[in-house]
Amino acid sequence: MFKLSRSTVFLTTLFTSILLATIIVILLFATVSESLTSKAQYSKRAARSAPIALLTGPQSNQEDVYTQALNEAAADFPHALQVALTGIKIVNGCHPYLLKTNNSCVWGAYDSYGWAADGSHDQQLQDTVWVSSEAIASGAGIDVLLHELSHALVDQVLANCEALPTSNSYKQLLVDAVSDLGIDESATEVLADLLALYFGKYFFDWDISTMHTSYVDVEEIPYRVNALMGAAVHRCITLVF
Ligand SMILES: [Zn+2]
Repeated sequence: MFKLSRSTVFLTTLFTSILLATIIVILLFATVSESLTSKAQYSKRAARSAPIALLTGPQSNQEDVYTQALNEAAADFPHALQVALTGIKIVNGCHPYLLKTNNSCVWGAYDSYGWAADGSHDQQLQDTVWVSSEAIASGAGIDVLLHELSHALVDQVLANCEALPTSNSYKQLLVDAVSDLGIDESATEVLADLLALYFGKYFFDWDISTMHTSYVDVEEIPYRVNALMGAAVHRCITLVF
């Protein structure tokens, strides 16, 4: 029979205590790291809902509900995309210069220069993206917004992002690849539609066959162009912002 000496009892108690203490420490650590993880996820969600600057422009159909819809759509953008577009102001309305010169309210516009109605430069209008209330009312507002923001991304981010090991920018590579598709439209317009479809599919997990794009059909996106857009977005937006 096993003899319990005083020292055996002491050692057994000591061992049990150390074991219990270790278990408690492990459990405590697990709880703390779990709450840290949910905290990190929570801050990610909070950052995601931070609104992009939103203004209201001249309207042919002024209703706050459209500005609100646009604001909500922009706030739902992935964080990296929002940060990449921090310098861009989103406006619900008709671009004043295009309204004057075309005598109509275009559904969407990207203005990097800042064109005032009289053709002069207006600092306030520089780096603006416009989505009209008509576009939102028709149900195409978010697609128009993505198309115009894609113009801004191409000009302000992809143009300054080198596609290593080449010495070209991702903008240049994408414009070349899109030109090769032989679509009878300007390459930058087709590219803006392609990027809108790309974000719809991979950032928002939408059924892109229901998206409104004017320059390209979903079936027209070859794999190599999709892969190049993926590389550009990953390298120039997701990793950087
Ligand atoms: Zn366009």
